[in-house]
Amino acid sequence: MNSPSSGTKDSTAVIECQNLERRFGGLVAVTGIDLQVARGEIFGLVGPNGSGKTTLVNAITGFYPPQRGRILLNGSDITGMPPHKVARLKVARTFQNLALFNGMSALDNILLGRHIYLNPGVIKTALYWWMSQKEEIAHRQVVEEVIEFLQLQAVRDDPVETLSIGLKKRVELARALVAEPNFLILDEPMAGMNQEEKEYMARFVLDARDERGITVLLIEHHMDVVLGICDRIMALNYGEVIGTGLPRDVVANPRVIEAYLGKASQHAA
Ligand code: ADP
Ligand code: MG
Repeated sequence: MNSPSSGTKDSTAVIECQNLERRFGGLVAVTGIDLQVARGEIFGLVGPNGSGKTTLVNAITGFYPPQRGRILLNGSDITGMPPHKVARLKVARTFQNLALFNGMSALDNILLGRHIYLNPGVIKTALYWWMSQKEEIAHRQVVEEVIEFLQLQAVRDDPVETLSIGLKKRVELARALVAEPNFLILDEPMAGMNQEEKEYMARFVLDARDERGITVLLIEHHMDVVLGICDRIMALNYGEVIGTGLPRDVVANPRVIEAYLGKASQHAA
């Protein structure tokens, strides 16, 4: 496996969180989070349900800004920046709960991932007008290449609601990739998948890093996947970091075993 620490890569962290805290009313969803993801890493975020994984991602991507702490993207402070601006800095994400548009084809859902290249405020229907303009070929090329990369040719024209969960998740990944991100955040991309679908998805995540140089923050419950493809991981429990390091070390950490594996039976996936 490629090691992010090998070679002569830029040592500035792609994402750095410093003492991050996000509360919802009286509930402290995450607190004291220090996180650094190096360029080219696949960094795993694990922890039981409700431990703050999605909240951390929502803080980074601007959906729920932190009340305390700082977030640096490639060394620049993006704390509190709204989501559309974060997206324009080549940060793409998928959502824990599928966020596809039913009634639209897989292709049209994927095309929407190009929206960051639209002027702000342009409504969805303008996408087609915009796609028909002179830039169409370039945009199409990106989309076609991603469809091929994720092996979605056979279902490109199918309404997304007719697809299996594994293919829906793959369409979501495609929509994130057509934005040509440098940093990709995946929130439980393998939830609900069978073993074969999981293996495909794990392969695509690895290839996204290896072939496209994308740095990945991966929220994932499946420990076989975490151990198999992550370079480093961080474990959360009740909104706090309880372990960071090599996957095999973190999963062997007694605090992590107690917090995470002890509650693993809660996870349906
Ligand atoms: P995880 O992704 O690890 O399962 P979450 O980040 O979704 O955990 O949730 C962490 C805690 O924050 C939970 O107690 C959850 O109920 C709470 N929480 C998350 N989002 C919100 C929100 N928008 N409003 C209120 N509470 C929230
Ligand atoms: Mg979550």
